[in-house]
Amino acid sequence: MLRLGTMTGPTVWSEFGRLSQEYDVANLGQGFPDWLPPDFAVEALVSATIDSTKQSPHQYTRTAGHPNLVKQLARRYSKHMHRTIDPMNEVSVTVGASQALYLSLQTLVKPGDEVILFEPFFDLYQNQIKLAGGTPVYVPLTFVPYSEDNEEVTGGEWILEPEKLEQAISPKTRAIILNSPHNPTGKVFNVSEMQHIADSVIAAGPQCVVISDEVYKYIVHSSPPQDELLGVGSSCPGHVHFASLPGMWDRTITVSSAGKTFSATGWQVGWCIGPSNLISPIHQLLPYVQFCASTVIQEALARTLPKADEPYEGYDSYYEYLNSKYRRKRDLLGKGLKEAGFAIPDYDRTPGGGFFIFARITPELRRALPAERMGPEYTKNPAAPGGEARLDWALCQWMAEEKGVLCIPSSPFFSREKAMEGASDEFIRVAFCKTDETIESAAKALMGVR
Ligand code: PMP
Ligand code: GLN
Repeated sequence: MLRLGTMTGPTVWSEFGRLSQEYDVANLGQGFPDWLPPDFAVEALVSATIDSTKQSPHQYTRTAGHPNLVKQLARRYSKHMHRTIDPMNEVSVTVGASQALYLSLQTLVKPGDEVILFEPFFDLYQNQIKLAGGTPVYVPLTFVPYSEDNEEVTGGEWILEPEKLEQAISPKTRAIILNSPHNPTGKVFNVSEMQHIADSVIAAGPQCVVISDEVYKYIVHSSPPQDELLGVGSSCPGHVHFASLPGMWDRTITVSSAGKTFSATGWQVGWCIGPSNLISPIHQLLPYVQFCASTVIQEALARTLPKADEPYEGYDSYYEYLNSKYRRKRDLLGKGLKEAGFAIPDYDRTPGGGFFIFARITPELRRALPAERMGPEYTKNPAAPGGEARLDWALCQWMAEEKGVLCIPSSPFFSREKAMEGASDEFIRVAFCKTDETIESAAKALMGVR
């Protein structure tokens, strides 16, 4: 079992966080918006802070979640899931989605259990599974380039091949972690892929559940045809909640948080939604992890949520505004990356969500990297799965130190096995949750890479 002290060392976030402090860079690295939350959210936070009615928001609240917030969340998810959700027994508020994932895994997994991850994956999952005593089992998403022509390195799509998932399923499979929209690729799983996952959950046996990480659910740029299984009335345009698939409510813990949606990653309010038999163990564990998540922030979010449904900046709701803002930023960054010579997904053809572009390093860009940058002095990358020098890491480090633009290498999103195959360092992850000025100055800096 993974224990502190046996962890793999500094994460890519601390390493590249340090570089962003040391060098003057246009920072397209870690996924946090560099603008303020919408006014109504800031006002909600101020009003929650100064309001001294009935229960002070400055004291502890209910461990499983502040009543005003769990009621709001239950009301919203009842709409998303087409069922009535019990705020007290089917919702748990956590410190960010990170803690929601941690508690889900701690309550589900016992030593020897297997947890399936689609690779590439958000790096946190892997060590959280090990911390719970579980074994990560990797199901590679297949990268299908737009062109098979060896001369041309193109972007492409990441697809789930059902046979690969079937092969990974066993009676030891305790959970499958699904993340859609996906970090780092921007993939939005289509309904037939989700249906294969649902079929696999059933095939694995009654012990198997899905942890569905949906933190980017309000950032969907273009969604695949998906309505046939869904019913109507989702208040989350373009997004499929895995738990809304037939038979999947009872087999899913849905995880999300407020950070991405309200451009407030520092608020650190997250939640788990699911049937009481899956949520109740989380309620039982919570008081031993902490008494409660911040009351004042929970109250602020409870006041923010109803406002987000109102017309905003000329759009029917804040969510529509957010979607349109991100679609435009994705196109702005996509153009910059293309002009700089990176091979990127074709978002007109590929479903896309979230706020990252997973750009492929072309041979031309590989040649631009000075040879000594792949030498031994750059081999001490502690966060890359193999610990050895990798093209993606060397390129991102060089771009931050010499070219004034910071992006995240792809290898931390892959397993050690994949790293050994040499298949994990062909990409960089570039964030577009940044002001137009930052994206434009990054685009200019990227032009100087080759
Ligand atoms: N899941 C994914 C896919 C993420 O990208 C992140 C990072 N923001 C998290 C979970 C963690 O979210 P939070 O900041 O709410 O803990
Ligand atoms: N999820 C964000 C990202 O992928 C921030 C990193 C983190 O939460 N560790 O950039």
